[in-house]
Amino acid sequence: MSMKEFIHKVCWTNAARSFAELFVNLVVTAETQQVSTLWFLWYVKICGGTTRIYSTENGGQERKFVGGSGQISEKIMARLQDRVKLERPVVRLDQAGEVVIVETLNHEVYQSKFVISAIPPVLTTKIHFNPELPSLRNQLIHRLPMGSVIKCMVYYKEAFWRKMGYCGCLMIEDEDTPIGFTLDDTKPDGSAPAIIGYGLKSSGNSLSEKSSLNRKRKICEYYAKVMGTKEALHPVHYEEKDWCKEQYSGGCYTAYFPPGIMTQFGSVIREPVGKIYFAGTETATQWSGYMEGAIEAGERAARELYVIIWN
Ligand SMILES: Cc1cc2nc3c(=O)[nH]c(=O)nc-3n(C[C@H](O)[C@H](O)[C@H](O)COP(=O)(O)OP(=O)(O)OC[C@H]3O[C@@H](n4cnc5c(N)ncnc54)[C@H](O)[C@@H]3O)c2cc1C
Repeated sequence: MSMKEFIHKVCWTNAARSFAELFVNLVVTAETQQVSTLWFLWYVKICGGTTRIYSTENGGQERKFVGGSGQISEKIMARLQDRVKLERPVVRLDQAGEVVIVETLNHEVYQSKFVISAIPPVLTTKIHFNPELPSLRNQLIHRLPMGSVIKCMVYYKEAFWRKMGYCGCLMIEDEDTPIGFTLDDTKPDGSAPAIIGYGLKSSGNSLSEKSSLNRKRKICEYYAKVMGTKEALHPVHYEEKDWCKEQYSGGCYTAYFPPGIMTQFGSVIREPVGKIYFAGTETATQWSGYMEGAIEAGERAARELYVIIWN
């Protein structure tokens, strides 16, 4: 059953239905008809339930990294030094022999006893496997699309919404709105006042067709309407990031399961294939789809190999 069918079954009023649809759009950046109910309910449960998953206080949106979360990768890389190879996407994994042969797009070849693949399942379709993947895994990776989101940051001279007693978190329900949900993105020291908006970029949404300039104008118009002030019409800067264009993400925030896929193919998502093990947030059992889940999955895959190597 899709979430659309589920919502229409359990929500009796139009207000409840449109709120439930917005909730799905925000949490997994996909349309309700695209998403499996079984998978979505599981996803929300492992992220602490409906309140925790989208709350700021004691919720998924509570914390930010001073200086940005990209620093985690940068600091790990500083420790590992040249053992980290950037801009070398893996295109071939051959485990027909004693070791695994790993070939990158620029034709470098590496050898290892084991491999941990920590990329979204659908991106492993870009890798040639020898021997071929088992049928269930091969079919699974063709059936887990990534969500579609564009992140839009509007900067203002001052955080005028705070003066009005607003926290900057807006939920906008309107067919034509480019943005469904916002947060106050002002830095903790009060600098760079901004509102960050998440737009679901799917076929039915006007967001996908508009140029960046039009998008900025439309977003500001909505913010002005929702907060009831013309101050929102005068940003000092605008930034956006269309995650759907990223070749090595395939979309964001994470993969989702369409109806029917979890029961038929889901059981093999964490199952190793020979010497290839699988991590990545999609394989987590807590906060899957989040950074937290990526760490849990990485630790689990490392433990799986630790047991094999030391036994
Ligand atoms: C707009 C947006 C907002 C988000 N907000 C939050 C948030 O507030 N909190 C939160 O916890 N999470 C958030 N997330 C989700 C979070 O970013 C992911 O859950 C997390 O990055 C997943 O980590 P990962 O290591 O599993 O995969 P990724 O971070 O996707 O890393 C996979 C890496 O593999 C690389 N790769 C791909 N293909 C290949 C290949 N063939 N060979 C070699 N390398 C390859 C990719 O370039 C990438 O660097 C957000 C995501 C987006 C897009």
